[in-house]
Amino acid sequence: MLPSTFDTDTASLRQHLTCFVIDDVVAIDAGSLAMAASALHLRQIRDVVLTHAHLDHIAGLPLFIDDLFSTLSEPVTIYSTESVMQTLERDIFNWSVYPRFSELSNANGPVLKYRTFGEAEKFSVKHLTFQPVAVNHKVPSTGFLVSDGGTTIGLSGDTAEMDGFWNLINSTEDLSAILLECAFPDELEDLARVSHHLTPRRMKLELEKCERRCPIYVVNLKPMFRESIVRQLVELNEADLTVLQVGRVYDL
Ligand SMILES: [Zn+2]
Repeated sequence: MLPSTFDTDTASLRQHLTCFVIDDVVAIDAGSLAMAASALHLRQIRDVVLTHAHLDHIAGLPLFIDDLFSTLSEPVTIYSTESVMQTLERDIFNWSVYPRFSELSNANGPVLKYRTFGEAEKFSVKHLTFQPVAVNHKVPSTGFLVSDGGTTIGLSGDTAEMDGFWNLINSTEDLSAILLECAFPDELEDLARVSHHLTPRRMKLELEKCERRCPIYVVNLKPMFRESIVRQLVELNEADLTVLQVGRVYDL
């Protein structure tokens, strides 16, 4: 039988799914949320902010709610654009693929609720402020500036070339880090273009738009091409650029 996940200490460098957790309480995307969440995360995470509805960013979401269903004392809240919410309700939580949790309750009340946000409309999640910005992906997708009032990070989500994100970055003082996607190696330029992703070569052009100096962590590397992408990123010779490590806690 193939494993559905991985041992805690031996997460593969090749990752299909995207999920970031901030301060052990707020998840951004939920690709691996059910599969990799610690006991603490299962107990604490009730807020999930989505960049877009592609499967590698939401695969763990139905399973996460399923795992918690009987024990939730407050609903899991999904923060997304209206468009992403409609996709989830139509294509995932549609009773055919999975239960429509937004219509279900446990003994304590509803188990899932949505909070939609508009483009460029700031919203708060726990102690964090999210500033959304539309990015350039195959489906409606959002990048974010996320701040706890002291530390601010930029997260591109899945995207190809973009300007709004960089305008937001350039207008932000004291940026602690940028998480930037790079899904395909240079030799798959055509595939990257049709699927609206970046390659190392095109990422370099994006970095020329960035006027802020801070660590830039590369995310969303397609697992089959990881070695090739990493080699090409190294060849860019960008001092601030490193690949974000899977399973690692970053103290920014
Ligand atoms: Zn995507």
